[in-house]
Amino acid sequence: MTGFGDGGGAGLRRETGRVVNEVAQELRTLDDGAAWFSGLPADEHVKAFRVLLSVFAVADTRRRETYCKGACGHAWHNLPAAAEGL
Ligand SMILES: [Zn+2]
Repeated sequence: MTGFGDGGGAGLRRETGRVVNEVAQELRTLDDGAAWFSGLPADEHVKAFRVLLSVFAVADTRRRETYCKGACGHAWHNLPAAAEGL
């Protein structure tokens, strides 16, 4: 696969961010997003995963500060402190 001429850094982050947002906004199907991810070279998966986590963190933080603020029963928003050390 080509298109990551900078070695996969900024180009991959930009591409991953675009694909993630397209899936989230239903401009691209989840299956198509998964196919895109699967088509990445194996050594790009960790980089793409890091981008996915950073996008998730932004969305999750926003949700904690809005919808979940003050009255949240989500198990994943109430994890024991020990999980932070993993
Ligand atoms: Zn919550």
